[in-house]
Amino acid sequence: MVYFVGAGPGDPDLITVKGQRLIEQADTIIYAGSLVNPDLLAGARFNAKIYDSSKMSLPEIISAMKKTEPGITVRLHTGDPSIYGAIREQMEELDREKISYRVIPGVSSFSAAAAALNTEYTVPEGNQTLIITREAGRTPVPEEQALPLLAGHGAAMALFLSAGLTDEVQAHLLEGGYTAETPAAIVYRASWPDEKVVRCTVGSLAESTAENGIEKQALLLVGDFLEEEGKRSRLYAPEYSTDVREGEKAGIAIACFTDRGEALAKRLAPRLADVCSETTVTRIGQDQGKEPLAAWTKESWYSRRALIFVGAAGIAVRAIAPFVKKKTIDPAVIVLDEEGNYIIPVLSGHIGGAVQLSKTIASLTGGNAVITTASDRRGAFAIDTWAHNRGLVILNPEKIVDVTSAVLEGRQVRLSSTIPLSGNLPVELDPGYADKNADIVLSPYVSNSGNALLLSPCISVGIGTKKGVTKRQIALAVAGFCKEYGFLRGAIRTLFTIDLKKNEEGLNEFCREEGFGLVFYSADTLSRAPGEFTASDFVKEVTGVDNVCERAAILGEGPGGVLAAKKTSYGGITLAAAIPGRMEF
Ligand code: SAH
Repeated sequence: MVYFVGAGPGDPDLITVKGQRLIEQADTIIYAGSLVNPDLLAGARFNAKIYDSSKMSLPEIISAMKKTEPGITVRLHTGDPSIYGAIREQMEELDREKISYRVIPGVSSFSAAAAALNTEYTVPEGNQTLIITREAGRTPVPEEQALPLLAGHGAAMALFLSAGLTDEVQAHLLEGGYTAETPAAIVYRASWPDEKVVRCTVGSLAESTAENGIEKQALLLVGDFLEEEGKRSRLYAPEYSTDVREGEKAGIAIACFTDRGEALAKRLAPRLADVCSETTVTRIGQDQGKEPLAAWTKESWYSRRALIFVGAAGIAVRAIAPFVKKKTIDPAVIVLDEEGNYIIPVLSGHIGGAVQLSKTIASLTGGNAVITTASDRRGAFAIDTWAHNRGLVILNPEKIVDVTSAVLEGRQVRLSSTIPLSGNLPVELDPGYADKNADIVLSPYVSNSGNALLLSPCISVGIGTKKGVTKRQIALAVAGFCKEYGFLRGAIRTLFTIDLKKNEEGLNEFCREEGFGLVFYSADTLSRAPGEFTASDFVKEVTGVDNVCERAAILGEGPGGVLAAKKTSYGGITLAAAIPGRMEF
């Protein structure tokens, strides 16, 4: 019998009790020389045969195991055998020889490294993922798992077998999207007496390993989870927006540095009220050094949807550099000169809205928006503007970039639609595709085409309720309704009902909290809705009209709307939904 035993990271006390007992019973022990602590062998039987596997080939190892049968062989692997343990090739040979085996897990070095740092890879409401991987060296890594691709997730990473390749690691992490300031750590021989921990950043990873003479027996750890305590709690505080906390950003923050700049900013701020209700102006003294600007930038970056610098572009770029992550989450950044002649969207032009905002500012100051993004320069078809103008809801805006690049490459964008289309679609769009082959799926229904941009017309939901239903009951009913009919919940914007419900607390609260509009119709208006509806004498007696939810949904949708879900009851709540019957272009 062969036992593959995890020896732990180094400290001989970090083996499992089961592993230790097997060492005490073994007739043969084969251990990996450099990384398994020989002190572990102290408990072995005095006549046990002990081999260092680093000096053996696979056939030699198997032959030693075979000779031991029917005795016990312990094959000691560093850390846990399931991670870069190369146990599979041994198992295949043992299968062939009909020798049975078992695996006893161990403490992996990535656990010991976190322990050495007194840290945790997962952070409540922050990082939830640990990627265990390696830089491609002599052993290749599958193309789709190349380090830059994995780095794109911004998750915590533990890199094994890569301490000698830190130039490549650093370049690949930066290429994938980690910033140079992302914290990193090098943990050399975790849990051994000569353990060494070096904290650095992604930008100084190569330099730090070189300076400390570390080339092997080390793990490289990367990610925001390594942020020092004080900073970390700030980063995840509710007023801060990170990758995982989207959607809470509001307002525009303007920084200025001179009298003229301040005067311009103060003239601009109230006029931006149409775009954004909350605009603050902060004068940053030029003689106070970099601190105030850095603090203002950090604060604004995580709480505002746009940052405007009235001053030199270089100042702005230096200030924002540490925070720039990716276009789906970064706020809009705009620089303008203190005369308001040139307004430059620097970051997040499309999804973040910097291009649009720059044009608005230019129209207010009488200056020029300096637009450099390719699609805007070439006047190409912009899917977001088009969708917006057609009253379509964009459900996954991060996919807009894919469609925009298809347009820029001159490729037609494949469209799938569950709603009949008529008239002339823009030439850029090519309709008639199945969901799974489409770049854009236009539908009010949930689709399983993971990669397409999802657009939906607003779903108009009509609602009728008994007196006194709670917001929770309504929330459950709406959720159940969406599930039952496969509606995209994100496409519901407004609920329509009868004016008798104006003071229903639960309904009002539900709409306020969920951000839904709530529109009331009189019984008289409802009775004039065109079409055939599920009539109820009881409803007529109470409200004066034979049906509330279906009629309200159809009126809400407007001309051409069709009922996609007839009156459906959930306890004391009835729901119906209307969608456009066709879309005219
Ligand atoms: N099965 C082992 C990994 C074997 S691969 C485990 O679970 O830990 C060998 C690599 O593991 C080394 O190149 C190094 O990156 C890492 N490693 C193993 N022991 C280590 C230790 N004590 N400290 C830091 N890294 C270690």
